[in-house]
Amino acid sequence: MSERGLLLVVSAPSGAGKTTLCRLLIERLSFRFSVSHTTRPPRPGEVHGRDYYFVSRPEFESLVQEGAFLEWAEVHGHLYGTSVAEVERALSGEEDLLLDIDVQGASQVRRKLGAQAVFVFILPPSLEELERRLRSRGTEDEETLARRLARAREEIRFAPWFDYVVVNDEVERAFEDLAAIIRAERCRPARALP
Ligand code: 5GP
Repeated sequence: MSERGLLLVVSAPSGAGKTTLCRLLIERLSFRFSVSHTTRPPRPGEVHGRDYYFVSRPEFESLVQEGAFLEWAEVHGHLYGTSVAEVERALSGEEDLLLDIDVQGASQVRRKLGAQAVFVFILPPSLEELERRLRSRGTEDEETLARRLARAREEIRFAPWFDYVVVNDEVERAFEDLAAIIRAERCRPARALP
């Protein structure tokens, strides 16, 4: 853990390999995963409190009313949000925190926290490769696939707005880029000076 915590926001279109890269950040660089709230039902193997806090839509909406979220957005028909409580320890510099959120959420965090957070966008090598990866998962029908690809095109348009872009052509190489970004960010005066 660094002396002053790093709040790393990672966004990517689905199929870019973000989940694998995030897992490596947690395993190798001791980031803590920011657990979001969502109204999406759990997938097999997902654990409440570890992968997400799974809540109903009314519960989510009352949390919004209470101002409990740093950011929230609707993604693929479900609500997702990062609670203020989840990021508090990172903001007080006590830990390095990883936020795996969509581009709408990332822009809200940018508006609220500005340079306190670091924003990284993961790009697939090409749209053709993205389509190939989504197809190889074999979990989606043609309509869902077409929707995910259209959304990916939309999301990729936001890439220039991030601090860094990492092309995930090969996982280990992309991870090296991420590790280099983190290393450089830890050397910024705001984090490195006593
Ligand atoms: P999934 O349902 O596959 O876990 O996530 C779908 C999308 O929602 C992903 O792009 C993920 O980054 C995004 N997401 C997960 N948690 C949050 C959150 O707290 N806020 C926002 N804005 N997006 C999130």
